Amino acid sequence: MTYIPILISLVLASASLHAKSQIPAAISCASKYGIPVQAKSGGHSYASYSTGGHNGILMIDLENFNSVSLDNRTGIAAVGGGVRLGNLAQGIWDQGRRALGHGTCPGVGIGGHFTHGGYGYSSRAFGLALEQIIGLDLVLANGSFVKIDNETLGDVYYALRGAADSFGIVTTFYLQTSTAPEVDIKFSYSFPQALDSIENATAVFMGVQKFSLYSPVVGRNLGLGVTLGGNATSYTVHGTWFGSSSVELTDRITSLAMLGGEGNLTVPLHGFLQQDNFYAKSVSTNVSFAEEPIRKFSEYAYSAGRGLNAPISWFSIISLYGSPDSQIGAEGKNGSWAAYSGFDDLWVVQNCENRSYNAYLNYIDPELDRDEAWHLYYGKPLFEKTEFGEKRPRSWRCLLESAEHPCLE
Ligand SMILES: Cc1cc2nc3c(=O)[nH]c(=O)nc-3n(C[C@H](O)[C@H](O)[C@H](O)COP(=O)(O)OP(=O)(O)OC[C@H]3O[C@@H](n4cnc5c(N)ncnc54)[C@H](O)[C@@H]3O)c2cc1C
Repeated sequence: MTYIPILISLVLASASLHAKSQIPAAISCASKYGIPVQAKSGGHSYASYSTGGHNGILMIDLENFNSVSLDNRTGIAAVGGGVRLGNLAQGIWDQGRRALGHGTCPGVGIGGHFTHGGYGYSSRAFGLALEQIIGLDLVLANGSFVKIDNETLGDVYYALRGAADSFGIVTTFYLQTSTAPEVDIKFSYSFPQALDSIENATAVFMGVQKFSLYSPVVGRNLGLGVTLGGNATSYTVHGTWFGSSSVELTDRITSLAMLGGEGNLTVPLHGFLQQDNFYAKSVSTNVSFAEEPIRKFSEYAYSAGRGLNAPISWFSIISLYGSPDSQIGAEGKNGSWAAYSGFDDLWVVQNCENRSYNAYLNYIDPELDRDEAWHLYYGKPLFEKTEFGEKRPRSWRCLLESAEHPCLE
C-alpha cells in the first residue's frame, strides 16, 4: 500500500531536545492547518498506517530516536521510539546479557510493535512486548510532553498500551528486561505426512494442540507455532526452547539472528528500506480448537483452486500464546490493565477468516470498518470502557482539548 504524506518530519535533534521542541512544533503546525499527524517507528505496519493509511498526513519519522540504554542495577532499558527489534535485542544483550519478549523480524520497530501487543516465541517466557513497558515519555495530541507510568497519568498510560497511535507519540519506552536465557534453541520440525490428506493435517494439528495443553514438559520456556507454508506445500512446527538438549546449542543472539532469517540481527540505523507487499487477516481464540474447524480449515487449504493451487502465494501461521505456564497475561491481566484484549489468547492465527473470532492489533487489516475493527481488535467490554465508560469522558477527550489536563485530577 502506498500513501503519500504531505510532509515528513525527520527529527534530527537528540531525543530530549527533539521531544521538548521539534515534535510539539510539528504537531502545532499540522494542527494549525488541519493536517493529521502519524508517527513512524519501523514502518512495518501491515496497512502502512505510519504513512497515514491515506494521503496527506504529516509523518513524524522517529528514525533518530535510536538509543538503547540499559540500567544494570534495575534491568530497566530506556529505548528510543524508533529503535528496531534487532537493534534492541542486541543492545540489551551487549550491555548486560538481558532479554525481552518480542517478535522475530529484526527490522520491525518498537513504536508499533510494543504498543499493540508484540508476540514472539519468547513471549510465553517474558510476556507480550506490551507487558514489559513500565513507563513512557510521549508527546500528546495537544503538543505537551509528558512522562507517564501506572502512577502518573494512569489513564493515558492505560490507553497507550494498546492504542498509542490514537493518543500520542512515544519518544522513549522504559522496559523491564529479564535475564537472557543461557541457552536458546531454535527448532523446526517438518510433518510431510500432514500434506498427504485432510485427516492427517487435522490429526497433526490436534496432536500439537494436545501436546501444548497437556504435556508436562511444556512450560514458559517453550514457544511454538504451526506454519502451513508455500501454498500448503510444507507443514512445520517451529519455535524456541530455553533449556538444555543434545542438539547444537546457540546463545540468545545467534538464535534471534537465525529466527530473523536475515543473517544479521541488527539493521542499519538510517536508510533501512527493505519492504514486502502482502495482505493479512488474523483470528485469535482463547479456547482450544475443536477438531471440526481444523478439518474445515485443512479442507479449504487443500482444495483445488484455493489452497495448493491458489493463484497467489499464501501461508498461515498458528502461534501458541497461552497453555500452562505461559507468562502472557500472567497475574490475571485483562482489558482493565491495558487497552489490549488478547491477554487470554490461546492461539493467534494469521490468514484465516471467521468473524466470530477476535483479531490481533499488530496484524492490522485496513478493510475492516470502524465498528468491526473496534470489536475484533478490542472487544465489547473494552470498547464500552473507552467509548462510554469512565476513562474517555474524564480524561482522553480532555487531553486533546487542554494542555493542563485539569480533568485528570
Ligand atoms: C516482516 C514483518 C514481521 C512481523 N513479525 C511480527 C511478529 O513476529 N510478531 C508480531 O507480534 N508482529 C509482527 N509483525 C507485525 C508488527 O508487529 C506490526 O506491524 C507493528 O505495528 C509494526 O511496528 P513498526 O513500528 O515497525 O510500524 P510503523 O508502521 O512505524 O507503526 C505502526 C503503527 O504504530 C504507530 N506508531 C509507531 N511508532 C509510534 C510511536 N513511537 N508512538 C505512537 N505510535 C507509534 C504508527 O503511527 C502506526 O499507526 C510483523 C510485521 C512485518 C511487516
